Amino acid sequence: MLTPWLTAIGRNLHWRTLIQLCAALNLCLVQNTALPTEQQSNLDQLRFVTSNAEFTLLHEMGHLLIHELKLPVLGREEDAADQLGFIGLFLIYDRQKTPDFPLRLLDVADYWRLEWQRTKQPAEEIYAWDSHALDEQRFYNIACLAYGSDPKNLEWIIQTTGLPEERAFYCQDEYEQAKYAALWFREHFKRSHQQPVKHRIQVVYDSPPYQFDGDSDLLEKVKASGELEALAKRASEFFALPRDLTLRISSCGTPDSWYNSHSGELTLCYEHIAHFKKLASQRPALILP
Ligand SMILES: [Zn+2]
Repeated sequence: MLTPWLTAIGRNLHWRTLIQLCAALNLCLVQNTALPTEQQSNLDQLRFVTSNAEFTLLHEMGHLLIHELKLPVLGREEDAADQLGFIGLFLIYDRQKTPDFPLRLLDVADYWRLEWQRTKQPAEEIYAWDSHALDEQRFYNIACLAYGSDPKNLEWIIQTTGLPEERAFYCQDEYEQAKYAALWFREHFKRSHQQPVKHRIQVVYDSPPYQFDGDSDLLEKVKASGELEALAKRASEFFALPRDLTLRISSCGTPDSWYNSHSGELTLCYEHIAHFKKLASQRPALILP
């Protein structure tokens, strides 16, 4: 149930308006860290980049598990991979207990808003016939799952994202449905304690492209955070993977990522990370109360 007067304020609040509202009402989940604005902005951008790199990796992990473990899929594989990726954020890191976890979920949704609303070249467009949902749909799908994961505490996601009430009404059910499927999958494919960890996902950093030189600090931050290695380790130990796999951070010439079922390689492109960073820099600053 939405707070009526909050609903009446409107669905498309600007970030700063929301933040001012949060400050006034002391509603925001994240406490004031008293960091200088620039430092906070850098942290927000790094969180946006790592959150979306993680989600992208987990989405591709979804493809990997569907193919490697013969996971039955109803509906489009791309939609299933998004749901597995989203629930994977909860399952792999148990981050719902950390203060910035809701912001990470919002980062992932907001990436699709930025993709949807930015001007693209024809080759970059996602068309109705594509195997992927439209960027706009992915934004609302992720926003719905994010809100649905904790409606009591994350009602502000409705305001922030402009998620229509007609959809929001069903989001808890959608989240529970996706979670149920992921838990079913986890129960059927998790590694038992008696099983040794035979296969692992190795993280490999190829040399970044020349154009990435200016983002070397970002690369170092991503490496130093250990996020990708931690994710690979947790996934390797959670599932009984049928073969060794590689998570390769590579230069691809395009901001993309994919899973190659022949080589068993997940490829996350430097250009994709740089793209996340570029979009993060264009996003209104998150100045938390
Ligand atoms: Zn995909």
